[in-house]
Amino acid sequence: MNQDSDCYNIADYYDYIITVRRYKILSRVYNFSAGPGVLPEEVLKTVQAELLEYGNSGMSVMEMSHRSKDFEDILDDAEENLRSLMNIPANYKVLFLQGGAYTQFAMIPMNLMINRAADYIVTGQWSKKAAAEAKIFGTVNEVASSADKNFSYIPDLSDLNISEKADYIYICQNETVHGTTIKTLPNTKGKILVSDISSMFLSEPIDVNKYGLIYGGVQKNVGPAGVVIVIIREDLIRDNVLPYTPTMMKYKTHADNKSLFNTPPCFNIYVCGLVFKWLMKLGGVEEMHKLNQAKAKILYDYLDNSKLFHGTVEKKDRSLMNVPFITGDKDLDSEFASEAAQAGLKNIKGHRSVGGMRASLYNAMPIEGVYKLVEFMTDFEKRHAK
Ligand SMILES: *Cc1c(COP(=O)(O)O)cnc(C)c1O
Repeated sequence: MNQDSDCYNIADYYDYIITVRRYKILSRVYNFSAGPGVLPEEVLKTVQAELLEYGNSGMSVMEMSHRSKDFEDILDDAEENLRSLMNIPANYKVLFLQGGAYTQFAMIPMNLMINRAADYIVTGQWSKKAAAEAKIFGTVNEVASSADKNFSYIPDLSDLNISEKADYIYICQNETVHGTTIKTLPNTKGKILVSDISSMFLSEPIDVNKYGLIYGGVQKNVGPAGVVIVIIREDLIRDNVLPYTPTMMKYKTHADNKSLFNTPPCFNIYVCGLVFKWLMKLGGVEEMHKLNQAKAKILYDYLDNSKLFHGTVEKKDRSLMNVPFITGDKDLDSEFASEAAQAGLKNIKGHRSVGGMRASLYNAMPIEGVYKLVEFMTDFEKRHAK
């Protein structure tokens, strides 16, 4: 990482960020976007410092051959560091792919739905879209859903009516739009569990052994848009995929070629690699989880006591990453979002499908940003007291 940085742990890192802001060294805002989301300033500074010349290569990572030794090292380091951060067992492959999380909605059934059946747990927009895409390829049973209450909770997943034929059970573990997290994994009754962790990637420890396949688009919590990371158990990488599956859509193609079958998104993988190093320096995923819990608590505690703002999700199912809230008055919601933006608290408007507000508190959002948001909300509430 950058030689001029003195940040060796989370507390030092955030002290540094607060200093930077206090003295207005930078005029960066607090970006609460759900994705692409905020990246660590330290990582962006490293990217800036290395943009014209990476190491002794004499060129930018953007200009490098993906077969060069320099890039091979970047890719190997990224994989190794991700494996260590997530404790990924040796019998799982890590693939750096393209096409966003959305492409996985098709790739998963094309590769795993050999009996042409799968069970989907529908807890929000992203699992709903994944289920709709899977229907192109076979029978999709929705074995649980929270659509009855506008996806504001997670149903009991302990005793589902799992289909005998199901090739896998699918979840979206953190629903980015609705702000729910599946905290107790479903009882899959021996079936393979597939999970979309796009918006909670590296935000808290997870036990990879419990899954057959985990994946996520990195632009929420890991890096710049353009990379999707798939972590797949080796025995699920098969030749006998569905007929007409294109070469690029087979996990085997990428697994056999160490994510270098064709040109990967080299620069974006490099930035992800820097984020992994940043996380390791700050103490890893366990430390980050503690900080994420502290950050979310500040906002949820305020929401629970506010007379103006209300959280929209059942307490037990709340996400640490995406926090939706409303005033109950659409005009006031818009007024809040635009005033917040003027105060440097950006992208707080809720998803177009649900309205209201949503604050995404990804790893790179400093705790100071959450304090600032709550301070602003408190002031707004005072000004709009009935
Ligand atoms: C954003 C998001 C997606 C879609 O990601 P793309 O990379 O835009 O295809 C899928 N699932 C979840 C949980 C998301 O947050």
